[in-house]
Amino acid sequence: MTALTAMTAMTALTPAAAAVAHTLFPQAPSKGRVYNFSAGPACMPESVLEQIREEIFDCRGGGIGLLELSHRGALYEDLNNEAEAMCRKAANVGSDYAVFFMPGGATLQFGLLPLNFVPDTGTAAYIDTSIWSYKAYTEALRCRNVTIAFDGRSLSAKYSRVPKQGEFTEPSNAAYLLYCQNNTVEGTTFWAPPETSLPLIGDATSDIFSRPWDFTKHAMVLAAGQKNLGASGASLVVARKDFIARATQKLPQILRFEDHANAGSRLNTPPTFAVRVMGLMAEWSLKVGGPEAIAKNNALKANLIWNAVDNSGGFYSWPAEKWCRSHLNICFKTAKPELDAKFVSEAEQHGLFGLLGHREAGGMRASSYNAFPVKGCEILADFMGEFARRNG
Ligand code: PMP
Repeated sequence: MTALTAMTAMTALTPAAAAVAHTLFPQAPSKGRVYNFSAGPACMPESVLEQIREEIFDCRGGGIGLLELSHRGALYEDLNNEAEAMCRKAANVGSDYAVFFMPGGATLQFGLLPLNFVPDTGTAAYIDTSIWSYKAYTEALRCRNVTIAFDGRSLSAKYSRVPKQGEFTEPSNAAYLLYCQNNTVEGTTFWAPPETSLPLIGDATSDIFSRPWDFTKHAMVLAAGQKNLGASGASLVVARKDFIARATQKLPQILRFEDHANAGSRLNTPPTFAVRVMGLMAEWSLKVGGPEAIAKNNALKANLIWNAVDNSGGFYSWPAEKWCRSHLNICFKTAKPELDAKFVSEAEQHGLFGLLGHREAGGMRASSYNAFPVKGCEILADFMGEFARRNG
């Protein structure tokens, strides 16, 4: 018996886990694959991977593979339109919103926001709750005089929580207020969008389509691929049409959100593969029951691991305040970096991969996005208990 099958055999699903696990959500990985806790690019549903494998060779029986399709041809046009329609449905927005794909990841979006929306002498506000929102802020600061609306870096425990409603200052002349919906590195999350009178921009890179979420509270929600949207290389943008119409015309088209929207995500040759994968991931998220079902499954998985942290008698800890703990990135560490390294290496022997924490935060991080199986979180929780007993 391998270490993985031994561990799997000793772990019986709790009744609550079993109730969710027998639904359409992914079960254990198939033979030769492992539990992949990577923060991104992250694990995808095997059903989607299999469909992509088939389409890469021959897309819809036309004799041409997905990577070989002309982006101006009728078949790719269908794939693009389907991807937009699936994302529109998952986001639940009306015709006053544009839903489109752009090349590049979230960092490119961070650079484009000030160029589009902040006049030379204007400003924008940033709620800083993580290294990613700080990156958005510092990138904007290179070209515009933007400000911090909430300073999570300076909390006594750095980035240990998000602000409560109203606990931020918004200059009334700011072009927008940006926040990071789920803090991938710090393991914290917003449970509701911040209330503001400014146009609100959400970075949903690590929580898109993971829970019921009111996109209409936002002027724009952006999400890079690589997690709940599959392949990296493109970003999904859901934006109010009247907001993106405000962007300056004094920019090359390729840098303007509105031009990408007006061109139906095909201003130039788009990242066709990533867009197709995003469409399939959005479709999958609807098939398994949409945001409500996904949120329940994610909560179940996250609580298994957070409970293992809380029940370890202090062997594991993490600064994130309990009320804003993420259900997608569950972080923990022991008292010693050497012990963390031992944990990561022994976990791999149990088929649990990708647990090394972000280089800036240290410790361990279990990323359990929508497609991650419940069973993997149960195995990890068991392993955490067993490791603490041996090393505590
Ligand atoms: N924002 C968040 C919330 C993220 O998790 C990440 C990547 N992990 C980024 C931004 C940066 O994304 P990219 O590498 O696509 O620029």
